[in-house]
Amino acid sequence: MDFLSDRINSLPISATLAMAAKARELKKQGRDIISLSLGEPDFNTPEFIKEAAIKAIHDNYNSYTPVNGYLELREAICLKFKRDNELDYSESQIVVSTGAKQSIANIAQVLLNPGDEVLLPAPYWVSYSAIATLCEAKFIEIPSTIESDFKITPEQLEAAITPKTKMIFFNSPNNPSGTIYTEKEYRALAKVLENHPNIFVLSDEIYEHINYGTKHFSFAKIPSMYDRTITVNGVAKAFAMTGWRIGYIGAPEWIAKACTKMQGQITSGANCIAQRATIAALEAPVSNISYMVKEFHKRRDMVLKLLKEIEGFRLNKPEGAFYVFPNISAFFGKTIDGIKIENASDFSMLLLEKAHVATVTGDAFGAPNCIRISYAASEENLREAILRIKKVLN
Ligand code: GLU
Repeated sequence: MDFLSDRINSLPISATLAMAAKARELKKQGRDIISLSLGEPDFNTPEFIKEAAIKAIHDNYNSYTPVNGYLELREAICLKFKRDNELDYSESQIVVSTGAKQSIANIAQVLLNPGDEVLLPAPYWVSYSAIATLCEAKFIEIPSTIESDFKITPEQLEAAITPKTKMIFFNSPNNPSGTIYTEKEYRALAKVLENHPNIFVLSDEIYEHINYGTKHFSFAKIPSMYDRTITVNGVAKAFAMTGWRIGYIGAPEWIAKACTKMQGQITSGANCIAQRATIAALEAPVSNISYMVKEFHKRRDMVLKLLKEIEGFRLNKPEGAFYVFPNISAFFGKTIDGIKIENASDFSMLLLEKAHVATVTGDAFGAPNCIRISYAASEENLREAILRIKKVLN
């Protein structure tokens, strides 16, 4: 430990990945764990995407790709942005990376200096804060509650801005709350940012297609924001391609160039086969994946209904993504099955130890009164998991 850098020693471990690893380990030991920790579709990658990958192998796509991605893929991404988001990007504004997580890390690395402040509307995805910290930037949480459907207000945004504010991270549909900002709400937040021309916006839209009815709106569509917004997306969630690791950005060209330079020194271009498969994924009509979204929708309704029957769980109605994020603070101070519950981590551990259900503590998302439950799992497992939770809490 003594020999490790301060950088890595001060970096928190990814709570989502840590919980998934723990669940896997317990399963290996023979414990009957239901893992609702990781945000990972339980579907197979659609056949037409797999076929494209197999064809790419046979066609001998085996060399390094351009650092920012194959030109054909960047063109397909431009068309996708136009078709789904009404955003105009040229291929020189696109950078393909090894997952949206790397896209976000690239952006942070190229824009943040030590001491810069990054605004994180909470709850936020676990890695945002860690990625900002790696850049020696300071992350500033803007809290929200179930009462405001986990959304921040323009007044809160204004109050959080200081001369050091360099960026804000938006994420709609949101991981972990499932909240979606409407066009009107985003425009009101943009109004505030218009008075602060040195603040950049990272708009993480990875859950764009996992949406149950609120129209998706891309932040970069606001003309005054286009030149300082980086739109992040990827194929992991919508196309059940988490392990393929393909993310991408649409950004002002100078930022795209900087990200390419950064990536050129760290990983080079993303995997060549996965890039060819992504072309097929993005060129296909979005209706090709609606069967998965329909299934998530059904599960959301079921999970909400069942969880609401548990006394002490307070829930918002997530409009997108595949998580519920109950406030479970009613259990703090209680002792359940011999375990004292002081915080959300204790509660999450109780569920793991006694109900054999893996969830993720809200602390990691900047919301210490909540836990995250992923419903990207079979209906049968979801029912069984909630039944077990109920039993333990009763
Ligand atoms: N984004 C997913 C999640 O939040 C995958 C794990 C991760 O990269 O954090 O569960």
